[in-house]
Amino acid sequence: MNPKNRKTFYIETFGCAMNVHDSEKVAGTLRTLGYEPVESVEEAGFVFFNTCSIREKAAEKVFSRLGVLRKTAPQKKVGVLGCVAQQEGTRFFKRAPNVNLVVGSASYHNLPHLVRQVEAGLDQVIDTSQDDDHCFETEITQRLHPYRAYITIIEGCNNVCAFCVVPFTRGPERSRSSQQVLEDVLKLVDAGYTEVQLLGQNVNSYRDPLGRRTFAQLLGAVAEVPGIRRVRFATSNPQNFVPEIVEAIDAHPALCNAVHLPVQSGSSTVLSRMRREYTREEYLRKVAFIRRSPREIAISTDVIVAFPGETEKEFEETVSLVEAVGYQQMYSFIYSPRPNTAAQGFTDTLPAEEKSRRLAFLQNRQHEIQVTLAQRMIGRTVEVLVDGRSVKDENTLSGRSATNYVVNFNGPASLPGQYVHVQILRSGANSLWGLLVEPEGRDNILPDRTIEAISMGT
Ligand code: SF4
Repeated sequence: MNPKNRKTFYIETFGCAMNVHDSEKVAGTLRTLGYEPVESVEEAGFVFFNTCSIREKAAEKVFSRLGVLRKTAPQKKVGVLGCVAQQEGTRFFKRAPNVNLVVGSASYHNLPHLVRQVEAGLDQVIDTSQDDDHCFETEITQRLHPYRAYITIIEGCNNVCAFCVVPFTRGPERSRSSQQVLEDVLKLVDAGYTEVQLLGQNVNSYRDPLGRRTFAQLLGAVAEVPGIRRVRFATSNPQNFVPEIVEAIDAHPALCNAVHLPVQSGSSTVLSRMRREYTREEYLRKVAFIRRSPREIAISTDVIVAFPGETEKEFEETVSLVEAVGYQQMYSFIYSPRPNTAAQGFTDTLPAEEKSRRLAFLQNRQHEIQVTLAQRMIGRTVEVLVDGRSVKDENTLSGRSATNYVVNFNGPASLPGQYVHVQILRSGANSLWGLLVEPEGRDNILPDRTIEAISMGT
């Protein structure tokens, strides 16, 4: 093909796993239109930004990227996808006149038609309608990870958390049938995948439109598909988290013993202002039944610090909840007002320095908790799906444990994609380091005394 006629694209993705997976589906769709993926913005004829609106900073980053592109490469076609596209609509064309295409997250099915309109010479093409009652699925998804695959099971959200834009940007809940999900899993196994992650804004409110399976039953069915070694799921709204999910984890070894359960605040009064449908006590009861599992389930969470009106006492309740639960990981942020949300109008008088102090305090405390939890892993042997070379040291291999620890170890270059056992020798707050245990024998496991010596020295 004449290089001049070559159609190329690059997608930069912001935000959550749902956005990452949407970009994989958009990339697949673009390939069906004759576009080839390239490795950088510079090489691409059509540049897409898949945007995130969950915090102000993430949304503003897109406008800054668009500004740079306008100055450096005004000839490129530019598309904006995702939550900020949905939220800003035609305002994008005013703030960033180099944008040719704006597509909201409920309109991706219409992408082929919209891209052709841009190709035909239309300067400003937009679709932010939300009248589609299906999840966005394509026949071809260009998966970014070679061993771990995402599957959407539900999109949108019917809740009205006061800080969250998702119900406005992604629309109401739409679940895919469990049969469709299982067919996807079978296709992924045929393609060589052994780990899948079921995705949704709130997977716990999954409703099989054909009424065949509850969410817990779907988890069990996916875990039993021959060839599947690991199943993860996210995100779980605590209000819909039921004991049957823990029972499914107990019954199916392929279900990873890791649950992401965003608490947002440890104070019942803040939770009520946030319009979360649970109290601190109800949340802790859910944690208690997760803790009763014989499989030692790791729990991670999200926390919003300095939600409007948060008092010192309410903040301390968050700290005490974080200490009581002992999260393996926590994503925490200072509250930032988002358009269309109820909390946007709430009075917020707390000085910025105090907000930062609270966030730093919480993050320091969480860091200590993570360090302590990770130290408990020393001496244990964990199963690791090997991803590839470590980003920090190319002589080291890196992978993930079932509970989502990054595990580093030395081993042969042939291991990526395989499951191996690693005995843990050293720990940090987020990562573990260990020794590969050869599948045929345990000869290279260090005796316990040696392990102790190594861990005390680091
Ligand atoms: S449950 Fe609340 S925080 Fe989660 S997506 Fe829905 S509205 Fe947003």
